[in-house]
Amino acid sequence: MSTVLEVTGLAKRFGDLEVLHDIEFALNEAESLAILGPSGCGKTTLLRILLGLEPADAGSFSPILDRAGYLPQGSLLFPWKRVIENIELPMQLQGMTREGRRSKIRSHLPIFGLEGFDSSYPFELSGGMRQRVALLRAVMAGARTLILDEPFGALDIVTRHRLQDWLAGVIEQLACSVIFVTHDLEEAVVLSHRVLVLSERPASILGHLKSELSSRDRVDRMSPKFLQTRNALVDLIVSKESHA
Ligand code: ADP
Ligand code: MG
Repeated sequence: MSTVLEVTGLAKRFGDLEVLHDIEFALNEAESLAILGPSGCGKTTLLRILLGLEPADAGSFSPILDRAGYLPQGSLLFPWKRVIENIELPMQLQGMTREGRRSKIRSHLPIFGLEGFDSSYPFELSGGMRQRVALLRAVMAGARTLILDEPFGALDIVTRHRLQDWLAGVIEQLACSVIFVTHDLEEAVVLSHRVLVLSERPASILGHLKSELSSRDRVDRMSPKFLQTRNALVDLIVSKESHA
């Protein structure tokens, strides 16, 4: 199994505010890694550093994720552009031909449940559909790595569950490498093969948990196996935070 990304000794502060402390982890090819941490601990900052949007104070990471698809937190679509125009924007910046872009996008529309909506405007779509458009844009922009910042945070719980289940399937199907950050324990279990747990700010690594769940078990939120994994995460957080 090859490594897509290796992070060592990453540290970051904004003035007097220490945000990241000695962050180390690796991402494997075709692995989905959840980074779970409380709000405000430094998750978005970590992703922005990995993407080269923010400098780190110390540490290294390699190789740089220069061809990653990024879904920023609360990402927005351009309201005056149609679905297909929103999705193709990063491909346009990469210099792909119109024909190449559109045929690639059209072949992915069914997986993303957007078939027949390519000419719609964002306001004509539901919140869940808009988020699937933003995800498809990230997938189309990136080669093999997806970086997602709290992908479903703004949605109601029913839509969020439905989209989590769907994305879990898409991750398996696309076999791409994924890093996503979340403060939601269940989302971490549903969408990942491994969970990296961060402390309160300054974020340091409390530990990580490799999921033993099959892709089917991961979306069965009430099954004993699911609850066992979820509880193991809670234990990890409670036992480590109490020693901090
Ligand atoms: P999370 O995504 O885990 O909620 P963030 O990474 O967005 O957390 O923020 C971590 C901390 O760093 C917060 O206290 C936030 O206010 C602070 N912060 C984030 N970006 C900046 C910045 N550009 N300048 C100063 N402080 C920042
Ligand atoms: Mg954030």
